[in-house]
Amino acid sequence: MVERVSGAAGPAAGCGPVPEADGVRALYERYVIPTYARMGVVLTHGTGSHVFDERGRRYLDLGGGIAVNALGHAHPALVSAIEQQARRLIHCSNYYYSEPQGRLARELVRLIGPGKVFFCNSGAEANEGLFKLARRFGHSEGRFEILTALQSFHGRTLAGISATGQEKVKQGFDPLVPGFRHVPFNDLGALEKAISPATVAVLIEGIQGEGGVNPARPEYLMGLRRLCEERRLLLLMDEVQCGCFRTGRFASWQRILEGAPGGEGFLPDGVALAKSLGGGFPIGAFWVREPYADLLGPGSHGTTFGGTPLACAAALAVLEVIEKEDWAGHARRLGDRLLMELGRQVERHPRVWAGVRGMGMMIGLQLQPEPAGLTGAGQSPAVRLTQLLLEEGLLVIPAGTHVIRLLPPLNLSEAEAREGIEILERVVGRLD
Ligand SMILES: *Cc1c(COP(=O)(O)O)cnc(C)c1O
Repeated sequence: MVERVSGAAGPAAGCGPVPEADGVRALYERYVIPTYARMGVVLTHGTGSHVFDERGRRYLDLGGGIAVNALGHAHPALVSAIEQQARRLIHCSNYYYSEPQGRLARELVRLIGPGKVFFCNSGAEANEGLFKLARRFGHSEGRFEILTALQSFHGRTLAGISATGQEKVKQGFDPLVPGFRHVPFNDLGALEKAISPATVAVLIEGIQGEGGVNPARPEYLMGLRRLCEERRLLLLMDEVQCGCFRTGRFASWQRILEGAPGGEGFLPDGVALAKSLGGGFPIGAFWVREPYADLLGPGSHGTTFGGTPLACAAALAVLEVIEKEDWAGHARRLGDRLLMELGRQVERHPRVWAGVRGMGMMIGLQLQPEPAGLTGAGQSPAVRLTQLLLEEGLLVIPAGTHVIRLLPPLNLSEAEAREGIEILERVVGRLD
């Protein structure tokens, strides 16, 4: 039963079935630091690809908690894994061994390639670990600089915003962490020119997420691999959003490089994971390729909560369900279908949409520079449309000012996909 929340000033009163939205909002206004521009609704529970607000209104969740709820809400296997592990051992310090962490590391190595894994709690932390790996790698030669892409996103810690190739996340936080420079994405020549004697690593997303769903081109990935080899740079990939089977393969490069000459042998030197890894339970990780896997030795890195038995049991359950029931294959097939249908919608409404792109359950809908019915209003067109869709019962995630992202559960059903397309069509048709 949900606790009833009466208002900002008083204590939570009584035990009614429903929190009042105004009361919850008042609590946030009074007590929660206002870093997020929140949508109006108060969510109370979810099941599968749907969530419910305090009035019992149902929403189709195609945002997936920003690519987190890989199996939707309240998946019985995930709930049961968490429940059973919670009874046994929720947390133990990393001074000790626990079986789930060892098993999860083995699974990730099987899915990525020969190497080892460190566990943390978020995507930003996973990237932090890769930054420290790169610093260690180049330390004796005085190399420390990491090249990242324009329009990238790598998290909100101080090093994360320093690595991120978007001005808006940096404003007001300088001096930033030194040693990051940004280059145009998918431009091998520009990257090669940017390499300095201090450069030690390159970090890119396989598919830029916050930047608007921009996949790396196969030639770019293959070129980067060769260039990094030649110049002795670590090739680091931020798979926080696009990894964990989102594209239909475990890692985005595995999907992007299908059919590319030499693509099957491609491996980065470090990989950051989080978001979908725990299916909603917070967990992050970074994988390091074999020759570098012991660079971070005892005492060089750590975190209290990283790789708790509970988090690892959750992640193991998510991986097991995805693989046993082939939700990756499903995500790929349904993603292809969605791209086709959305492509037709883009053609029907050229005054609103400019295009659609993506892979599997990671799809970006590009708005026109001045999309019909979405200009003015003091909000970006993407946020405005996100709000209109929410009012019609559909949750999506904006990226920047002009892209709408669909990052739904991998086990989204065909009927749910259709429902989403219909809501989009209704709302966009009205704007056009
Ligand atoms: C979300 C995201 C991060 C940050 O992850 P957090 O868990 O929010 O710290 C980093 N990189 C990419 C590509 C992301 O999408």
